[in-house]
Amino acid sequence: MKKKVLSILLASVMMFGLAACGGEKTDDKQTDGDAQVTADGEMPTVGVLIYKYDDTYISTVRNALETALNGKAEIVMQDGKNDQATQNDQLDVMISKGVDVLCVNMVDAKAASGVVEKASAAGIPTIFFNREPDAEVVKSFDKACFIGTNAADAGKMQGDIIKDLLDAHPEYDLNGDGKIQYVMFQGEPDNPEAIARTKYSVEQAVANGLEMEQVGKTQVCNWDTETAQKAMEAMLAANEGKIELVIANNDGMAIGCVAALSNIGYNTGAEDAKFIPVIGVDATDAAKDAIQNGTMSATVIQDGEAMGKAIAAVAMNAASGADFLEGTEYTFDETGVAVRIPYAPYVGE
Ligand code: CA
Repeated sequence: MKKKVLSILLASVMMFGLAACGGEKTDDKQTDGDAQVTADGEMPTVGVLIYKYDDTYISTVRNALETALNGKAEIVMQDGKNDQATQNDQLDVMISKGVDVLCVNMVDAKAASGVVEKASAAGIPTIFFNREPDAEVVKSFDKACFIGTNAADAGKMQGDIIKDLLDAHPEYDLNGDGKIQYVMFQGEPDNPEAIARTKYSVEQAVANGLEMEQVGKTQVCNWDTETAQKAMEAMLAANEGKIELVIANNDGMAIGCVAALSNIGYNTGAEDAKFIPVIGVDATDAAKDAIQNGTMSATVIQDGEAMGKAIAAVAMNAASGADFLEGTEYTFDETGVAVRIPYAPYVGE
């Protein structure tokens, strides 16, 4: 089958217009209780707790945050090394240093109540990001908010990509039955993000008018490339010729599926190779390369840069005593405490 790098017309990619940082400080700082006060003329100190530095997406967020705060704030940043106890210690140090605002990427979102307890006692506004605490926990502190994505959106974006793919390539319906026989690769069995991606990718494809038919059981592969490759090899051994689409919760697993396909002559990037579309989430470098090489179809990008800019703008507001979203173009969702940064489809450059 002829295969080439796909060019897909993408439906309404909605991005927030990003407001400039609300960095203008008010002259009269209004603080209540024992809130941290920044002396006029001094740059505020922004304390940033990262769940772990060794995460590609979070690195993008960090870089964007640092860039956006450059010259406007002092940044104190710590690597939680994927250990909540370590992060708790780092939180204590930041509070004792008297940072003006805390930006917290929880190691374990369930431990957020402990952060709220300490931050509220110290009167330090706290912006959770990326890893989402329970909304009730965020609401329990009037100076706390959350900036993240909406778990359902990545799946819905996959469902839109599937529709665009099939419109552009009706030949992907290999058996011509008008239905798309797909296999699903899920990150973890109980992870809300994984569950939402699995559910909404297919639901959105159906809402877009496609008939979807799952082949085999959902393959739970712990977000892992090698695990997914082995599972895909088994799926292909049992169902070769019957699979028309691979949907994966993340690019790590998508890449494993591409490897399994390549091993039996599919998705090699050669013009005459057989091809089954593979879709992931994350837009990792490996996935971008695969899309560029024509071995994978598409992924969904978490816009780390937009996330970093949003955190910076909201942090500057909080540090100056202003409302979190004052002067920005961000809005809270129905919870009243969460800002959602949209995902975007990625089909190559
Ligand atoms: Ca079919």
